[in-house]
Amino acid sequence: STAIVWFRRDLRLHDHPPLVRALAAHARVVPVFVLDPAIVRGRFASGARTAFMLDCLRELDADLRERGSGLVVREGRPERELPALAREIGAAAVHWASDATPYAIARDRRVRSALAAAQPAVAAVPGPGNFVADVGRPRTRAGGPYTVFTPFHRAWQQLERRTVHRTPAVLPPLPAGLRRGALPSLAALGLTDELSPTARAVEPGERAARRAAERWLDGHLGDYARDHDRLAGGTSALSPYLHHGCLSARECEQRAVRRGGEGAEAFVRQLAWRDFYAHVLLHHPEDVRREHQERMRALRWERDDELLAAWQDGRTGFPLVDAGMRQLRASGWMHNRARLVTGSFLTKDLQLDWRAGEAWFMRWLLDGDVASNNGNWQWIASVGVDPAPAFRRILNPALQQRRHDPDGAYVRRWVPELARVPDALLTEPWLMSEQQQRAAGCRIGADYPAPIVDHAHERRRALERYRAAGSES
Ligand code: FAD
Repeated sequence: STAIVWFRRDLRLHDHPPLVRALAAHARVVPVFVLDPAIVRGRFASGARTAFMLDCLRELDADLRERGSGLVVREGRPERELPALAREIGAAAVHWASDATPYAIARDRRVRSALAAAQPAVAAVPGPGNFVADVGRPRTRAGGPYTVFTPFHRAWQQLERRTVHRTPAVLPPLPAGLRRGALPSLAALGLTDELSPTARAVEPGERAARRAAERWLDGHLGDYARDHDRLAGGTSALSPYLHHGCLSARECEQRAVRRGGEGAEAFVRQLAWRDFYAHVLLHHPEDVRREHQERMRALRWERDDELLAAWQDGRTGFPLVDAGMRQLRASGWMHNRARLVTGSFLTKDLQLDWRAGEAWFMRWLLDGDVASNNGNWQWIASVGVDPAPAFRRILNPALQQRRHDPDGAYVRRWVPELARVPDALLTEPWLMSEQQQRAAGCRIGADYPAPIVDHAHERRRALERYRAAGSES
C-alpha cells in the first residue's frame, strides 16, 4: 500500500515520527509539502521566514532524492491538494505531525474530513513530532490545562518520552510518472527577503542545523546556566531550526540530557517553555487575538505611529533597545534578553499595544512562531498566563544593558554610531558632554537620536494604566 507523509514544520529526515510510522505500515511512501497561501500570504506573512523555509525545503528534497525518494510539492489549500494527490497515487493514509496553533488545528480538521469523504476514504494519521513531549497531555490536579509554567514544568518532566528515531538510509522510490511539482521562487510568491545577506543569523537546512546543534552541545551548553542572559552570545541560536523542524526538539532534549550538568538542565527547561506556550495556545486558542487575562482587556493602549516607527527602526535613543531592533531586521533573530527589553519598552515606555510588537516580530523573525511569540509578548506585556504584577516586568534599558552587555560588545555591533562611546557612557549616551560627544564622533540628536521618552516618567504612567485596568501593581 501507499502512504503520504505530509511535511509541515518538520523539515528534516532525522527523528521524523510520521515518516517512520508510514514506512513501518506501507510499502510506498510519498513525501509531500503543500504550500498554503493562507500561511505564506496570511496575517503573519514574512519574506525572510518564507525564504528560509524554501531553502530548507530545497535541501529536504535533495536529501530525499539522495535516499532514492524526493519531495512532491503542491500549492493550494491542503484540504484540496491532499485528497487529490491521494487519489492520484492510490494512497491509503496521510501521516503528519500535529500542531497547536488555531489555524493548524482548523486546517487539520478540514483535511481530516476531506480525506474521510474521499472515495475510497483515506486514513488521517496525526501524531507527535514537533515538541519534546505531548503538549496536550499535562493536566492540573483539577483536570484543567496549566496556565503557570513552574507546575507545568514539573508535570512535563514526568511525561513519557517517545523514542528518538534513526534516519532510514534508503527510502522507497516515488511512483513512476508522478508530477513532482516545483518549489516556487520567493518573488513568484510576491515576497522579498529583506534581511541583510551578510548578517543573517543562521544558515537554512537540516545539515546546517545539525552542525550548529553539535557545536552548541559540545561547546557552550555547559556554560548556559551562567551565560544565557549574555547579549553577545550565550545561547544556542537554534530557534529557527526548532521552529521549522530542521531539528527535532525531542532529539535536542535527549542529547542535552545525555551531556548532563547545570547548563543542560537550564537548556532543557527552555525547551519546556516552548512546549508550555504550545500547551497554552492549544487550550486557549482565543489568546492569539486578545489578552489571556480578562481584566487586562480593558487596558488602554496609546496610538502613535511615529513612536512605533522609531521602535521598529531602532531609533529610540536607548542603545540596548536600538541594538535589539536592528539585530532583528538585519539578522532575522534577536537574543531573548533583547526581546524582553524591546517588548517591555514598547508596552511600558511607549505605552503601545503589544499586538503591534507581536506582528512586527512575526514579520522578521526566522523563528517567528505563533505560540511562542504570542505567549512571550503577553508575558512581557503582563497580560498573559503566568501573571505577575506589572511593575515586575518593566525593564530599565540602561540597567539591563549594564548587567547583560557590560563591555558593550552587543550594542557596539548593532549600533555602530556608538562604537567609540566609552563604556561608562554607553548605557546613557545622552549624558555625554559636548566634548565627550566630539571625542566619540557621535553627536546626540544628529548621529544618534536623543531618547524619545523619559523612562522614569513612562514607568509611572504605565503603572497607572495597569492599575486602572485592575492589575495589582
Ligand atoms: P536558547 O536560549 O538557546 O533556548 C533553546 C530553545 O528553547 C530555543 O531555541 C527555543 O526553541 C526555546 N525557548 C527558549 N526560550 C523560550 C521562551 N521564552 N519561550 C519559548 N521557547 C523558548 N521564540 C520562538 O521560538 N519564536 C518566537 O516567535 C519568539 N518570540 C518571542 C517574543 C518575545 C517578546 C520574547 C520575549 C521571546 C520570544 N521567543 C520566541 C522566545 C525566545 O526569545 C527565543 O526562543 C530565543 O531567544 C531563541 O534563541 P535561542 O535558540 O538561542 O534560545
